[in-house]
Amino acid sequence: MTHAARAAELESLLLTRSLDDPELAAATERTPDTRVLPDVSVVKVGGQSFMDRGREAVFPLVEELLEARSTHRLLIGTGGGTRARHAYSLAAELGLPTGVLSSVGSAVAGQNATMLGYLMARHGVPVVAGGGFDALPLSLSEVRAAIFAGMPPYAMWQPLPDEGVIPPYRTDAGCYLVAETYGCKNMIFVKDEDGLCTANPKNDPSATLIPEITVDELIERDLPDLIVERPVLELMRHATHVRSIQIVNGLKPGNLTRALAGEHVGTIITAGDAR
Ligand code: ADP
Ligand code: MG
Repeated sequence: MTHAARAAELESLLLTRSLDDPELAAATERTPDTRVLPDVSVVKVGGQSFMDRGREAVFPLVEELLEARSTHRLLIGTGGGTRARHAYSLAAELGLPTGVLSSVGSAVAGQNATMLGYLMARHGVPVVAGGGFDALPLSLSEVRAAIFAGMPPYAMWQPLPDEGVIPPYRTDAGCYLVAETYGCKNMIFVKDEDGLCTANPKNDPSATLIPEITVDELIERDLPDLIVERPVLELMRHATHVRSIQIVNGLKPGNLTRALAGEHVGTIITAGDAR
């Protein structure tokens, strides 16, 4: 089909069908995809697993991030962590709904972005949010980095969990969606373990590292606990651009730099070939 015929078909379907129509959905997929920021890497700095460890963990990572700008452009997302969990426990005990917990958790990821922003301020690295994302390309070309709060701004429109009130789409999902939307090169999660293990190594000493696994295998294995939020796996299945992610131990200096260079240092989770 020529480009003009594809465009005509798409327009006619969009004007005559329901937006949930499967033929319409297929037609939107037949046009070539645009990668918006294909040379940018998204790095998520964990909340509980990283920021909450303070100076000892954060300062060396800040240096590594600043250094990496000589060869990479970086979008740095932040997690929430222990303060968000404390707020979730208060709100849940008060019987408040997911939408409220989502707003409260967002604020904490924002605090971590603010603190990271002040640490990198003298290098010109801005913190962006909301409409500020529109100016992102300028920061990425001029100072080669920008920071954002990882929580997706669903607030009271947060999708509901299967059970309970904890917001399912938190900062891992938020950072991942930024990477996918901008068609970024890498999505690296910086945490405090060597990668995904067969169980949470903090309470199961027999847990062993899984260096590489597909999304399908991982869902199939139905592990009791994961190092990334489960909805990220579902998002990856539907993604166009970011078909793999890497989780690295940022407490080991150099790991992030190696992962940015495309080396396999932690766990790589893949969703198979691009659709
Ligand atoms: P973040 O700070 O980015 O939100 P989390 O604290 O939510 O990160 O998740 C990272 C933690 O997940 C690790 O510190 C580890 O204790 C825990 N974890 C749970 N299940 C696993 C697993 N299967 N493999 C490795 N770590 C796991
Ligand atoms: Mg988390």
